[in-house]
Amino acid sequence: MVKITALKAMQILDSRGNPTVSCALSTPKGIFVSMVPSGASTGTHEALELRDNAKEYAGKGVLKAVSNVNSIIAKSVVGKDFFSQRELDDFLLKLDGTENKSKLGANAILGLSMSFARALASENNIELYESLGNSAGKKSFSLPVPQLNVLNGGKHAGKENDIQEHMLFPIKFSSFAEAIRAGAETYHVLKGMLKKKFGAQATLLGDEGGFVPPMDSVEQRLELMLSAIKEAGYEGKIKIGLDCASSEFFDGKKYSIGSKPFSAAELSDFYASLVDSYEIVSIEDGMAEDDWNGWAELTKKLGKKIQIVGDDNLVTNTGRIKTALEKKACNSLLLKVNQIGTVSESIWASRLAEKNGWSIVVSHRSGETEDAFIADLAVGLASGQSKFGAPARSERVAKYNRLLAIEGHASGKIPFSGKSFPFSK
Ligand code: PEP
Ligand code: MG
Repeated sequence: MVKITALKAMQILDSRGNPTVSCALSTPKGIFVSMVPSGASTGTHEALELRDNAKEYAGKGVLKAVSNVNSIIAKSVVGKDFFSQRELDDFLLKLDGTENKSKLGANAILGLSMSFARALASENNIELYESLGNSAGKKSFSLPVPQLNVLNGGKHAGKENDIQEHMLFPIKFSSFAEAIRAGAETYHVLKGMLKKKFGAQATLLGDEGGFVPPMDSVEQRLELMLSAIKEAGYEGKIKIGLDCASSEFFDGKKYSIGSKPFSAAELSDFYASLVDSYEIVSIEDGMAEDDWNGWAELTKKLGKKIQIVGDDNLVTNTGRIKTALEKKACNSLLLKVNQIGTVSESIWASRLAEKNGWSIVVSHRSGETEDAFIADLAVGLASGQSKFGAPARSERVAKYNRLLAIEGHASGKIPFSGKSFPFSK
C-alpha cells in the first residue's frame, strides 16, 4: 500500500529546451520524482499533451498541466492510500473522464503515474523494474536489444520528406554490455567516416544524438552504416532498422521521399528492395498513421521477413492495437508511455501485443529528460527491445547507463534478449 502524503509538480526543461512536467510524489518512504518526455513527430491519435499556448516559451509552457497536478489531482489523491498501480491509474482515468486525457492533460497524469510506480517499488523494497514487472504479471525479466539511432533525419533534423531514423541493432551478442559497446564503437567509426568524407560539420548531432550528414539518398546512408559496421568488426552481428515516420511525408494521397513520389504499393516495393540489400530487420512507421491499407500491404509483403513496427498508427492504445490486429497491419508495438498517459495503460498495450505474438519496443521520445524510467520498464516488461536513441547525449545515455547498472548488479541473472530477436536471419 502506498500512502500519498504530498504531491508537487513543476515546469522543467526537456532535451530540446522546451518545458515539460516534473512530478514529485511524497510518501512516508520518501519523495519520488519523475519527468515527462515529449515527441516531435507525434501521432494525431496520441493522448493530449497539454500546452499553455501563451506568450511564454512560444506557447509551449506546461503551467496549466502543472497547476492541474497541484490543484485538482493533489486535492483528490493526497491523504489517500492506493494498493496497486492499476488502482491509482484507474482513479486518474476517472478523474480526467475524457477519451484522450484532454481535461487534465496526459503530461499531468503521466508524471504522477510514473512517480507512483517508483513509490510502489520503494514500498516493497524492490527495484523499479521488478515492481513494474509485478504490475504486468511478469515472472522473469530481460535486457533489451538496443535500437541505436545513429543517423537522424526528418523532423528530428529539420528536414522535409525524409526517413527519420537509421538504427543499429546489435543483436548477436551475449550481454547488453557487449551489445552497447559494439553499438558505441560503430557510432564512433561512423563519425570518423563522416568527418573524412564531408568535414566536421557532418558530425553535428540531431535531436536523438545521431549524425545528420548531407546525404539525401537513403541507400547511401545505409551503405555507409554497413561500411561502419564492417570497419568496426561487427559484420553480421549488428543489423539495421529504419523508423520512416512516414506520416510526415504523406499528403493524404501520396508519399514523397525527397522529391520522389510513391504510392503505398510503390513504397512497399522500395522498402522490400532496401531489405534485400542492406541487412534491414525492422521498419517502423513505413506507412502513415491512418493508411491501414498501406500497413496491411506492407505487412503482407515483408511481415514474415522483418519486424513491422507500429508507432503513430498504434499510439500505445489498445483500441488502435486491436484495429491493427484485425487488419494484420503490423507485427510489433512501439511502446511510448506518454502516447497513452499512464503506466497501467502502457502495460495493457504490451500485454495485448505479446498475447498476439508481436514483439515490443519500449521507446523514448525525441524530447527527453534525464529520467531513465523507460529503461526499467523495458527490463520489467521483458520487452526484448528498446529504442533510446544514439549512444550520445545524456538524456539518451541515462537510459543506457541504467540498463548497464541493472545488468551489472544482477551479475548475469538477467538475460540479454539478442537470441530471441524475431528476425535476425
Ligand atoms: C519516433 O517517431 O519513434 C520518435 C521517437 O520520435 P518522436 O518522439 O518525435 O515522436
Ligand atoms: Mg516512430
